[in-house]
Amino acid sequence: MNSLQLVSITKEYDNKYRAVHNVTLEVDEGEFLVLVGPSGCGKSTLLRMIAGLETITSGDLFFNGKRMNDIQPADRDVGMVFQNYALYPHLTVEENIGFPLSIRRQAKQEIKRLVTETAEMIGLSHLLSRKPKELSGGQRQRVALGRAIIRRPKFFLFDEPLSNLDAQLRVQMRTEIIALQRKLGVTAVYVTHDQTEAMTMGDRIAVLKNGIIQQIATPTEIYSSPENEFVAAFIGSPQINLFKGRMDSNNRSQFIENNNGCIISFVGSDPFINLLQSMSEFTIGVRSEHLIITNELSSSHESQSLLGFQATVRSVEFIGHESLVYFETAQDLKCCRTTADSPVKAGDSIRITFATENSMIFDNMGNRVKSHFT
Ligand code: ADP
Repeated sequence: MNSLQLVSITKEYDNKYRAVHNVTLEVDEGEFLVLVGPSGCGKSTLLRMIAGLETITSGDLFFNGKRMNDIQPADRDVGMVFQNYALYPHLTVEENIGFPLSIRRQAKQEIKRLVTETAEMIGLSHLLSRKPKELSGGQRQRVALGRAIIRRPKFFLFDEPLSNLDAQLRVQMRTEIIALQRKLGVTAVYVTHDQTEAMTMGDRIAVLKNGIIQQIATPTEIYSSPENEFVAAFIGSPQINLFKGRMDSNNRSQFIENNNGCIISFVGSDPFINLLQSMSEFTIGVRSEHLIITNELSSSHESQSLLGFQATVRSVEFIGHESLVYFETAQDLKCCRTTADSPVKAGDSIRITFATENSMIFDNMGNRVKSHFT
């Protein structure tokens, strides 16, 4: 069993800054867990504590049930891949990949055999005699991967390994890393600030903010059922639309965004309105795919329990298979998706609706209000 457990892990740096607060999580054998969050939220600190490169202030770290807090990094059986590759410039690809074995004074023949096998696995067999400076970014990152896997570690730790690569290569390497991890069956923790990487690579995602775990769940759960406004806004592209405001005291079926702007009116669903009336201020969240430009719809949709508002289109982005329509309400630019052949254009006044069941409600602390309506 190559599982990993973190129990109430906290990191306070020497300057008393708390980078990680009370993190408890488990990574199952063979699982690929992604730690995601904005820059500075403590992802690397957490990963480095798992690797043993940073001391743990309080809490316990277990590998397969064995407490690891005081075990030296070299004895932890982890393979680590960094954003900046950390290759030795004066060594060849072959020597870089074999480095973890040569410092352990493994037999030359055996090193050669394992380097050959590893290089084949990561598609570097033809580049073994090159130096890092003679390689592309993607090839360098493959060398770093090779060096991490040559000892067949029990755990893979990745710290933003794709951040220095161009967009196309990042997509390719995402697939390669996952394929390799699956093939070797190694338990992995992967740090990134990129929500797309998190969504596409993770079996589960842990979202971190200010050193505190906000939610740990599968990509589908995180997207469709975020615990709070921060997670809802961090995951998903285009970003979820958020309407912050209160119910109109003069009209019980109207919501007013930000005291002055967009008015959202409700049709049907009295209990839902009652729920919202009971809250002083709240935020309605709706993903772009759930906002519907009503003029484009058949009238049958009008009969559902809907929320609707009027908006002026600021711009339309044609992205091939669909178009993204940006419009402004009280607070910010919001977005809805529509068909690629939609006639909607900048300057148009449109009516937008969405179903109550496709909306999320967050209270004034940002926590999701779960009800059977949403
Ligand atoms: P992330 O990987 O999410 O970008 P880090 O784990 O690198 O975040 O850093 C988390 C926070 O801890 C940041 O605010 C950072 O400035 C701070 N930090 C990192 N290393 C140190 C250190 N050695 N001493 C003090 N503060 C640090």
